[in-house]
Amino acid sequence: MTDFVLRGGKLVDSASNGRPLDLLVRNGKIAAQMAPDTPVDASMPVLSAAGLHVFPGLIDAHIHFGFAEKITEYESETIYAAQGGFTTVLGYFLNNEAYADVFQREQEYAKTRAYIDYAFHFSTANENHIAELKDYVQTYGVTSFKYFMNFKGEEGRYLGLDGTDDGYLYDLLAAAADVGDVTVVCHTENIEIVNRIRTKLQAEGRSTLKDWSLSKPPFTEAESCVRAMNFAGHLGAQIYIPHLSTRLALDEVRKWRGRYDKVFVETCPHYLTHTEDADIGSLGKANPPFRTADDVEAMWEGLRDGSIDVVASDHVPRKRVTKEKPLWLASQGFPGTATILPVLLHAGYHKGRLSLSRIAEVLTSAPARIFNVAPAKGSLGVGADADITLVDLNLARVVNPAELGSYSDYSLYEGQTLKGWPVRTILRGRTVMADGKITGQPGYGRYLFRSLSTPEAGA
Ligand SMILES: [Zn+2]
Repeated sequence: MTDFVLRGGKLVDSASNGRPLDLLVRNGKIAAQMAPDTPVDASMPVLSAAGLHVFPGLIDAHIHFGFAEKITEYESETIYAAQGGFTTVLGYFLNNEAYADVFQREQEYAKTRAYIDYAFHFSTANENHIAELKDYVQTYGVTSFKYFMNFKGEEGRYLGLDGTDDGYLYDLLAAAADVGDVTVVCHTENIEIVNRIRTKLQAEGRSTLKDWSLSKPPFTEAESCVRAMNFAGHLGAQIYIPHLSTRLALDEVRKWRGRYDKVFVETCPHYLTHTEDADIGSLGKANPPFRTADDVEAMWEGLRDGSIDVVASDHVPRKRVTKEKPLWLASQGFPGTATILPVLLHAGYHKGRLSLSRIAEVLTSAPARIFNVAPAKGSLGVGADADITLVDLNLARVVNPAELGSYSDYSLYEGQTLKGWPVRTILRGRTVMADGKITGQPGYGRYLFRSLSTPEAGA
């Protein structure tokens, strides 16, 4: 059913904070927004959204491919995302090989398996990646590239990458600016300082989550944010700071944006809910680490005042066993996509911290615009894909990872009752999840070939 009328819901998008409107869907696209009960062709099927809020299909702009079961992760992790109301995911790869090869291989795996639409970010790690950047944009529709400021020199070589440095970042940003508004996603961390602090803490036998945070003090995030913004401003490049975690770094971004505005910021759900005092040991290990209660408040403030643009999961779908190790050896990151919306509704909307329209913005229109999947995605406007997430604001549900479908077998929110859940996920007019049951098909999800919103310089 890709033609229907959705009746009785309240629309939530960047323009609307819950206005009663019906939606007409034809050929998998939004054909009209209509006053409630506007008559339509009698043959048109009716889908009821009575009592529900109607969001544009959610977009998770930050997940990682390559950490779950290779190949079948395109099924398991897109099922998991659909359970959380997501219709689009953008996944990172980190490879030292040419991305032409990576792209062909991953597409073979993904195109017959994905339940929802997907796109790729490539992580740049060697000179070849800079040389081929323009080709990646034009041939593969990839318009965003990650750079790890923490994988410098030896740190990078340890991971099987060519070691890079600030000069590499400079050339990467210059190449990105040259092609147009290509976005360079900068993992901001001064690893040279972090390494020295970590060595001392390890020698002292320190091993708590708080020690993990101490090893990466806020200054090491803030300083590298400033460096990245400084380089970007100088070269006219567009940058995106993922997983921002500290008030100090956020304040630097606020200051800098007055001078240069092609800077976008993301935070993750766990920086909105967890502190370094969380009593969960290595399970809570992430990079960046959990921070203080004041930093958590700063993230909510940043979402409210617009200085943080996007909330994304940084979803890493490893098994719990990889976390159950001494702190310094435990794996980093957690599964996160499917619980983003319940976290924002429960800890944000229901606590008076964030409006519904702002939640829609940070999960739909902002990532769509920044990562070039707008106007088809991230909107309920006429002509957009009929990607629709129906939300029951008052549904209280206990987080049970087994019900959500990821390869991963745990959740930071496991056992907690969160209020506000998606109850139906519609992708291009077809329901892929209804009341917690997957109704979609593997291979229905499409690869999103992205195009730059601004024409290429010199083209
Ligand atoms: Zn990440």
